[in-house]
Amino acid sequence: SKRGRLDQFIARALQVSKKAVRQLLIDNKVLVDGKLAKAPDLQIDEFSHIVCNEVILQQYQKQYYMLNKPDGVVSATVDDKHPTALSLLAGINPDMLHIAGRLDLHSTGLLLITNDAKWSAALMAPDHKVDKHYLVTLANPIDESYIDAFANGMYFEFEDITTLPAQLTILSTYQARVVLREGKYHQIKRMFGRFRNPVVALHRESVGNIMLDNTLLPGEYRVLTKAEVDCII
Ligand code: URA
Repeated sequence: SKRGRLDQFIARALQVSKKAVRQLLIDNKVLVDGKLAKAPDLQIDEFSHIVCNEVILQQYQKQYYMLNKPDGVVSATVDDKHPTALSLLAGINPDMLHIAGRLDLHSTGLLLITNDAKWSAALMAPDHKVDKHYLVTLANPIDESYIDAFANGMYFEFEDITTLPAQLTILSTYQARVVLREGKYHQIKRMFGRFRNPVVALHRESVGNIMLDNTLLPGEYRVLTKAEVDCII
């Protein structure tokens, strides 16, 4: 991404001197991403929304990324102990971005990151019915009895909710694919917990029609295509 200083950007955009820009900043005439900007050396990029004297110099742009989340990375903006998902978006300013549907520390796979709050709300609304597909590896063998239990929903006392019907497909003795339309706290682990069967690996393969790009190695990301963005809303 093209990062640079705010004063340089304004001087170029308005064809004025750096000194004139400094005066604009002193006079509270400049807003970056909706906030008053004071520092001439503030770092901006092509996604920053920049307004000067009530004129839009650069329009806010919506951004959408998919990350192949590695094990041990947290779905949060800041963390003391572990690298964050946003820190893996090399060269992208994380300030305005958020994660649309978190994954646990040890879960891997498709993580969607955006600055479009409407889009992520649509994605996560339980009534919107966006399917999330997970590949789950268990510590103990699974059997047919799991299928009905997942389909019938499970009562979670802590939240006082019953999970929506979930589809479980047995792939092998220790592996299943689970399709969820919601994402309660540690939901898959808790559902297998009912069978005293610990989840040893959990990998998100898709969200709605957005599939994890199989050319992305763990830790790699790419921009979503327009078709991928549009399939959610
Ligand atoms: N369910 C879980 O338990 N963990 C996840 O990361 C996602 C779904």
